[in-house]
Amino acid sequence: MTHQEIREKFLEFFEKRGHKIIPSSSLIPDDPSVLFTTAGMQQFKLYFVGAKNPFKDFGSQNTISIQKCFRTSDIESVGDETHLTFFEMLGNFSFGGYFKEKAIQYAHEFITKELNLQIDYVSVFEGDEKIPADEESEKIWKKIDGNLKIKKAGKEDNFWGPTGKEGPCGPTVEFYVDGIEIWNLVFNQYYCKSDKTLTPLDIQGVDTGMGLERLAMVLQNKKNIFETDLFAPLVAQIKSQISKVKTTTQNSKIDEDKSIRIIADHIKASVFLLADGIVPSNLDKGYILRRLIRRAVRHEKLLGFENNFILSIAEPIIEIYGNLYPELEKNKKNIFEELKKEIIKFEKGSKELLKIFDKVEFFTENEIETRDFSDYSRLGKKFFDIFSTYGFPIELSIEEINKLRKGLSWEKLSKSQEELIKQEFNEEFKKHQEISRAGAEKKFGGHGINDYRLSTTDCQVIKLHTATHLLQAALRQVLGKEVRQMGSDINEERLRFDFSFGRKMTKEEIKITEDLVNQKIKEKLEVKIEEMDYKEAIKSGVLAFFKEKYPERVKVRSIGNFSREVCGGPHVKNTSELNEFKIIKEESSSSGVRRIKAILNQEL
Ligand code: ATP
Ligand code: MG
Repeated sequence: MTHQEIREKFLEFFEKRGHKIIPSSSLIPDDPSVLFTTAGMQQFKLYFVGAKNPFKDFGSQNTISIQKCFRTSDIESVGDETHLTFFEMLGNFSFGGYFKEKAIQYAHEFITKELNLQIDYVSVFEGDEKIPADEESEKIWKKIDGNLKIKKAGKEDNFWGPTGKEGPCGPTVEFYVDGIEIWNLVFNQYYCKSDKTLTPLDIQGVDTGMGLERLAMVLQNKKNIFETDLFAPLVAQIKSQISKVKTTTQNSKIDEDKSIRIIADHIKASVFLLADGIVPSNLDKGYILRRLIRRAVRHEKLLGFENNFILSIAEPIIEIYGNLYPELEKNKKNIFEELKKEIIKFEKGSKELLKIFDKVEFFTENEIETRDFSDYSRLGKKFFDIFSTYGFPIELSIEEINKLRKGLSWEKLSKSQEELIKQEFNEEFKKHQEISRAGAEKKFGGHGINDYRLSTTDCQVIKLHTATHLLQAALRQVLGKEVRQMGSDINEERLRFDFSFGRKMTKEEIKITEDLVNQKIKEKLEVKIEEMDYKEAIKSGVLAFFKEKYPERVKVRSIGNFSREVCGGPHVKNTSELNEFKIIKEESSSSGVRRIKAILNQEL
């Protein structure tokens, strides 16, 4: 069954059952609280809460769509069998029309009768301290198919929403076919306010989402989404290019496949984002687009290409989707131009980076204790210049330089070198921020302060930085004073914190630590900076990381009375700017050192 046939079958099935077909909305939502359209329900949010009338707008309480979706939250998973950043979602919706019984019946009938697929199992919400279990859905399932395996899961897997700071949400039912989740039915029965409290909704809503690529994968008997007809032409194009160049890469087949998948996904997503009017920049959506394109170019280089072929895969993308999404054809010229411009900018920036590093002497990790740091501590400023000219955020520069240097006399920046460079970069960044603010204020006669905006990524990194301080203080409270920072790394998605501690943390300890950080976020603590004598600071119990590298006078960052650390980097002004803190992993890093990865839940 081709993707085209799947689309038609889906639309026909639900249209026959009283649903109005609504075209996909743009990847840029109307809703300012979210960056991108991440699910089919996005364009219907106001119907779920009763703010808009579906009869008036659609002539029906029930709708269906095939929605373009883009999720940055899945970027790290791209390369596996089932995750993409850009995908299409088939969905049926009801705003106060039918509810659980009919929704489950429809989906069951569509999967088992219309598509002839076998359901492995389904899952339902098991409830938690605050929200009751979804027993109704369980009963319905038992009635439809007494032999079906029903799994129960918690909030993480079987409770949806809200998208953005607030909105409708509720328990979900998931369908698993061939071991993968293909369809998620959400029953909107609550409204979640920005303070996270739930109230029942007047209108009970149905919101479902089924990934077209995953469905094509099971129907076309493929092992992964990249072998379906939604990707095969792109993958073939990349592979034919690879066979033309003499590849210099030592990569294994697995790495090669992964790079091919990442390139295919990222360029497809970029083409669709460009078609919806986003251009690469250092702000918000534009910045995410920039990172996607650069990541694709990066992987192209990993495959051993000197000259880029990325543009050549934009063509088959427009071929597959052109007749479904007219914006692709319409903006074709612009899409190609922007892609090309961005690729060139990236390459120029990379060259500049290499130039900087050619002139600097580097030391190995072992030598560091005894050497003078002054040489590369000045690099942060140069990295900042590259950031402002070519749009290279510090993480990308470091990533880039480590890759560019592969195989040369020194290969990789040591952790301490990285720390120093980042610290100086951040200081430079902050200075620049202050200058921009002052400039904006001047320009707008003092009212322009809110016009200055950092990119979402920068904001997220800054938030995670403050969260790292909270985490260290919390760990010391929960586990004891032997906890000390041994390393830290932050990107736009997560923080990573290495600390001295002799054993694995228990589940309870993790939970208490998480709760403590969240409590401090809720307490709306002010984040302050003061300058003081380094020795004095240490004496009064302020935490520091590498004692060698601090000057006599240092900046001390305090968060309420909870945390005090030597730190000159950027932070939020108040912990209330942080979202919910969550530890996603606790593992061993090296002997006597544990590693925590944690996130701040975002809109996406
Ligand atoms: P998973 O746990 O597999 O990441 P999910 O729970 O995040 O899936 P939903 O948010 O419920 O998925 O989205 C509804 C459907 O959209 C999923 O059942 C799946 O078919 C599809 N889907 C979700 N995320 C992706 C993705 N990154 N790539 C491709 N399809 C996806
Ligand atoms: Mg997911």
